[in-house]
Amino acid sequence: MGSSPTAPTALMETYNRLPIAFTRGKGCWLWDSNGNCFLDAVAGIATCSLGHSDRALRRELSKQLNRLQHVSNLFRIPEQEELAKWLVKNSCAQKVFFCNSGAEANEASIKLSRKYGHLIRNIENPIILSAKSSFHGRTLAALSATGQTKYHEGFGPLVKGFEFFSFNDIQSIERLLYRLEAEGPKVASVLIEPIQGEGGVNPGTKIFFKRLRELCDEYKVLLIFDEVQIGMARSGHWWGYQELGVEPDAFTIAKGLGGGHAIGALLVKEKADLFSPGDHASTFGGNPFACKAGLTVAKEIEKRKLLSNVQARGKQITSGLVQLINEFPHELKEVRGWGLLQGLVIQEDSTLIAEQLVKAAIKERLLIGSAGRKVVRIIPPLTITSNEVKKILIRLKSSLIATSK
Ligand SMILES: *Cc1c(COP(=O)(O)O)cnc(C)c1O
Repeated sequence: MGSSPTAPTALMETYNRLPIAFTRGKGCWLWDSNGNCFLDAVAGIATCSLGHSDRALRRELSKQLNRLQHVSNLFRIPEQEELAKWLVKNSCAQKVFFCNSGAEANEASIKLSRKYGHLIRNIENPIILSAKSSFHGRTLAALSATGQTKYHEGFGPLVKGFEFFSFNDIQSIERLLYRLEAEGPKVASVLIEPIQGEGGVNPGTKIFFKRLRELCDEYKVLLIFDEVQIGMARSGHWWGYQELGVEPDAFTIAKGLGGGHAIGALLVKEKADLFSPGDHASTFGGNPFACKAGLTVAKEIEKRKLLSNVQARGKQITSGLVQLINEFPHELKEVRGWGLLQGLVIQEDSTLIAEQLVKAAIKERLLIGSAGRKVVRIIPPLTITSNEVKKILIRLKSSLIATSK
């Protein structure tokens, strides 16, 4: 398949790349350089919301490329204002800052937290609380906010001012907050994913998030959601917080927003609308091209009623996976997730690991991802059809048969 797995390239070794190079895509399907056809349940790591080579996206982005691509934020950008208007109309937020990626959006939220801590709570060294097993990105502050030591190793000193609690554990967050705030204001914000993606597809519980919201209100601490993976319809709602019945004071998005094009955003409610000119910026952030991509994704999700498709296909995947678990009880433990972010959890005492299953699936011409050692992640385009879901399930079963032999 493709070129040899060990072919040396001029690229730095930041990824263990699979030896496949895709040259063409259409919807949920990808073709490699040898003409092999794959069913894509990774979607560029949850970015290609409308699938590959979507007709509306091609049409709108070609027009935009022919008209204007980039001008910088020294000027008004109508496409940016229009996308911000759409986001504000369709979420709990009142203002938007645009950037280029998830990590960059989280960096903005970290700076915002610090400013809030200084300005509103009068804290000299504001602390941000984050969850264990979280993932917030690879830039230094986002990395420091990430609650997984494996990503920290070799990169110290980390950015100061982060403390960690256990996800979905009310006592853990209460204890941490009580301790830190015992002698006056110390905490600026809580930064948390509504559902942990990279960390193993762990959905937040309503009871935990309800208490977290109360605590943040009580202590006047900002509650910031990292919706980089789940936001923009992947849960079957526009935003992950709608699954929990709790609104954040600010939240970040990126992955699915541009349908495969680089764009990220920090969205804030009025009380977190604290940046003044000069506080923060991004040269490429919110350029006409990226914002046209975001706008087209938003409009197409609406027009094609993809929220209900995500809900229906999500249920179909869940029940198919439950059936698989029944057929492979020694290998598989449970399925968890929202909408089209589903995690298939492998039994702890089984020798099977997620990476093996991902590789077996490739032989079956199915692309799936992993989320840690023991969780397989299914994150197809939001446009996936019922027939395509059936094919995912069939190919996944063949992969399981191959790995359990
Ligand atoms: C992917 C991801 C990020 C990082 O996004 P990048 O665009 O890779 O910087 C941050 N938070 C969450 C929840 C993510 O899934």
